Amino acid sequence: MKKFYLRTFGCQMNYSDSERIKAVLERLGYHAANSPASADLIMLNTCSVRQHAEDRIFGLMLKYEPLRRKNKRLLIGLTGCMVRKTSSRADDFKDKILRRIRPLDFTIRIEEIAKLPEILGAVSGRAVRKTITSARQKIQPRELKNYFHITPKYTSRFQVFIPISTGCDKFCSYCIVPFSRGRETNRPMKDILKEARAVVKNGCKEITLVGQTVNSYKNFPKLLVEIDKLNKFGLERVRFTSPYPLDVTDDLIKAIARLKTLIPYIHLPIQSGDNEVLKRMNRKYTVQQYENIVRRIRARIPNCAISTDIIVGFPGETREQFMNTYNLFKKIKWDMAYLAQYSPRPGTLSAKMLKDNVPQKEKKQRWNMLNNLLRRVSLSKHKKFVGRKVRVLVESYKNGLNMGRSEHFKIIQFKSKKSLVGKIVPVKIVKAYEWILQGKVLTDNNNPVKIYSYN
Ligand code: SF4
Repeated sequence: MKKFYLRTFGCQMNYSDSERIKAVLERLGYHAANSPASADLIMLNTCSVRQHAEDRIFGLMLKYEPLRRKNKRLLIGLTGCMVRKTSSRADDFKDKILRRIRPLDFTIRIEEIAKLPEILGAVSGRAVRKTITSARQKIQPRELKNYFHITPKYTSRFQVFIPISTGCDKFCSYCIVPFSRGRETNRPMKDILKEARAVVKNGCKEITLVGQTVNSYKNFPKLLVEIDKLNKFGLERVRFTSPYPLDVTDDLIKAIARLKTLIPYIHLPIQSGDNEVLKRMNRKYTVQQYENIVRRIRARIPNCAISTDIIVGFPGETREQFMNTYNLFKKIKWDMAYLAQYSPRPGTLSAKMLKDNVPQKEKKQRWNMLNNLLRRVSLSKHKKFVGRKVRVLVESYKNGLNMGRSEHFKIIQFKSKKSLVGKIVPVKIVKAYEWILQGKVLTDNNNPVKIYSYN
């Protein structure tokens, strides 16, 4: 029996893509391996948003190299954001960075994942090639044309990620996505709705729509309206990630406020609180425009939780410019922020044009300052939940502890004798911590749970 080991890095888009990779591999007769050591095929779905993410890939490759001595049939492949060219020849990787990875057999762009049988056929031994050649016929031409036609092998039945677009047209100077995934392409609405209906019929309670700039999707509010109609078939929650601030329209805000399934939470990456830095990042909005969007969201949805992404130490970021980000954080009080220290990614505009001139020590210090502020803000926001009821979609259960997310995307933990995974349960919050809330499950399922405003 042939076995594959697939490891995913990065954002929810990559996790969603991995569900399609799994589907292709299973059609080729592969079964999931528990560890890389027991696999005949190791695939890494990569992220290149941070140096750290790429370093992990290089580190893993070194670890996998000795496995070849034990298993001569072992193949190792890369897909995801580090890959800009599909190639079945180890000496034909366009990216200098990939040429450095010795034990690599092939790379494949995620958009061409239906070509995986072809690639595996080209790089594997004769015996394997024979079985793959016959399995190759199972790939449909429409799947080769557009990988979204591949029906995914979903990881969860009750929580499903549905990609609605891929690629990006924004060209932020630090980001490789427009080069690795190419320009933005939207999936037809009818295909998205077909997939949404199928997963809801299968018991899905929460759909997350994913795309690099998810709200750039043509007629995005209309898509939300259509998906919301699945509420009557059991769909309880819809969220989306990640939106581009300038594409947050009034229609979108109205849709979040009005539609039953839309949770009061939005992830809105700002990246910097300084206009000069935003310009160098090629983010196409100003701080004032961003603040205005937040004001509009909070005016219509007073209880809306908002999170963000921030990069510190971008080329040329002065202490004063960093303090603009810090002070903006104090003003906006994001519920959560994903903080990164800038590192140049080969192939991006900032790596080519701008000098990485903020010392590492200074980047770390700025990161620490923001992180300390985030901890304080998060704790004070969490405290406002104590004594209130929330509805939790339970995602995991371990040692008597259920863990899930509330409507505001807060992590909630509560004890119970049995696992409540996959259920939405009312929970009373009893204690607040910086990153999580602790609660007690309520038994009165008939009591409607009010969603409280706390901003
Ligand atoms: S919006 Fe910017 S950061 Fe996001 S994927 Fe596009 S180029 Fe990258």
